[in-house]
Amino acid sequence: MEAKPKDGRPALLTNAPLCQARTRAGGLCRCPAVKGKARCRIHGGAKGSGAPSGERNGAWKHGGSTNEVIALRREAGQLMKAVRD
Ligand SMILES: [Zn+2]
Repeated sequence: MEAKPKDGRPALLTNAPLCQARTRAGGLCRCPAVKGKARCRIHGGAKGSGAPSGERNGAWKHGGSTNEVIALRREAGQLMKAVRD
């Protein structure tokens, strides 16, 4: 990838993934997104913004669909397949 400064911004910022939020003018927000999120700090990427994860989230039902359990089920399925073959 080319690391040429654009708009006077450091290369680290021009190569960063951009915020996907739509502005009131109809265009896209062109701020760099917060690490690990799809939005910039202004558009919902700020620390502490959004719903809490896990049991604290309002959509939590029984814990049968957490990343941990899904990974465990996938692993079990692969083991079953290995046993069949
Ligand atoms: Zn933004």
